[in-house]
Amino acid sequence: MIAFVPEDRRGRRVLFTPGPLTTTRTVRDALRDDIGSWDNDCIALVSRIRTSLVDIAGGRDDLTCTPFQGSGSYAVEAVLGSAVPRDGGLLILVNGAYGQRMVYIAEALGLPHRVMRDPEYRPHDPAALDKTLAEDPEITHVACVHCETTTGLLNPIRELGLVVDKHRRRYIIDTISSFGAYPIAEADHITGTANKCIEGVPGFAFVISRRAAVEAAAGNARSLSLDLHGQWAHLEKTGQFRFTPPTHVLLAFEQALVEFQAEGGVEARAARYRDNHRVLNDGMTRLGFSPFIAPEHQSHIITAYRFPTDEFDFRSFYDRLRGQGFIIYPGKVTDADTFRIGNIGSIDRREIEALLAAIERVM
Ligand SMILES: *Cc1c(COP(=O)(O)O)cnc(C)c1O
Repeated sequence: MIAFVPEDRRGRRVLFTPGPLTTTRTVRDALRDDIGSWDNDCIALVSRIRTSLVDIAGGRDDLTCTPFQGSGSYAVEAVLGSAVPRDGGLLILVNGAYGQRMVYIAEALGLPHRVMRDPEYRPHDPAALDKTLAEDPEITHVACVHCETTTGLLNPIRELGLVVDKHRRRYIIDTISSFGAYPIAEADHITGTANKCIEGVPGFAFVISRRAAVEAAAGNARSLSLDLHGQWAHLEKTGQFRFTPPTHVLLAFEQALVEFQAEGGVEARAARYRDNHRVLNDGMTRLGFSPFIAPEHQSHIITAYRFPTDEFDFRSFYDRLRGQGFIIYPGKVTDADTFRIGNIGSIDRREIEALLAAIERVM
C-alpha cells in the first residue's frame, strides 16, 4: 500500500500511461451491476452515452456517435475500412506509431492508400498537404492523428482540415488520445476510446461522424464486425450494439461522464492536465531529463523524455518506480531512446509530485 495515495480515490498503483489509466474508485464501483443487453436499462444507457459524446464533440445536430466493442484501434479500423470506397484513395499522414498503425490497417484491409511521412518530432505541414492533394486527384480521404501518443506531439488538425476542405476531400482524425482534453476540429469522422481522457475503463471505442458521412459508408466495409454503417444503422434502429455490448464498461463510462461534467468538461479537464504537464516537465527538467518534442508542439497528454545517458537502464528504472507504486511507459520513437510519462487520468499535481520524488530517489 502506498501511503500518499488516498484510498478512496484509486487502486494500489498509479498509472502514468496513455491508457488504461488511473480511474476513480466511483468509476470502478459502477462496474458492479449486471444489466441485460436487450433491456431498456442498456438501451437507455447507450443512448445517453452516444448523446453525451456528441455533446463533447461540439453537439452539432449533424453529428452521430457509433460505439464499437474493443480498444481504440478497432474504431480506427472500422472508420478506415468503412469510409473509403472500393474506388477511393486514402492519404495517411504519419509522424508516429499511431499514424503508422493506420498504414498497417490499410495494408491489412487492402485499402488503396498512400502515405505522407514526417519525422516524429515535426508536426504535419498544411502547405505540403495542399501540394499533395493538388497533385493527386485519386485521393478521396485524408487521415491523420491529432495527438501522436508516441511522443505527445500535437498535429495542426484544424489547419490541415481547411486544406482538406479546400480540395473537397473527406477528413478522418484519430483523436483517441485528445478527445475530452482538447477542443476537436471539424471532420467527417473522429475517433475516441473509453479509457483515455474521459477516464473510463477499457472495453469500447467510438466514432463520431457527420451523419452524411456514415450514410455514405453503406456497403464499403471490409469487415462484418467493424462495419461503421452496419453498427450505426443497427444502433439507430434498435438502440443496441449489433453484437454483445460491454455492459459493465458502459456503466463505468457513464459514471466517468458524470465526473467529467462535474469537473467542468473539456476546459476544466484540459486545465488539470496542463497543470500536471507543467509540474511534471519542470520537475523532470530539474532532474536532468529533456523532452523529445519542442515545447511549442508538445501536448498536455503525454511526454516522451530522452534517456539521460547512454548507460540509462530503462528496465531497472521502471522496476524501481513500480516497486514504489508508479507505472510509467516505455518509449516508441523509432530512432531515439525515450520513455514516456502520461499525465492523463484521475491524477493531479499531488501524484505528479510524488512521482517526481520517487524518480529522484531511484536515480
Ligand atoms: C491509444 C491510441 C490508439 C488506440 O490504441 P489501442 O491500443 O487500440 O487502444 C490510437 N491512436 C492513438 C493516437 C492513441 O493514443
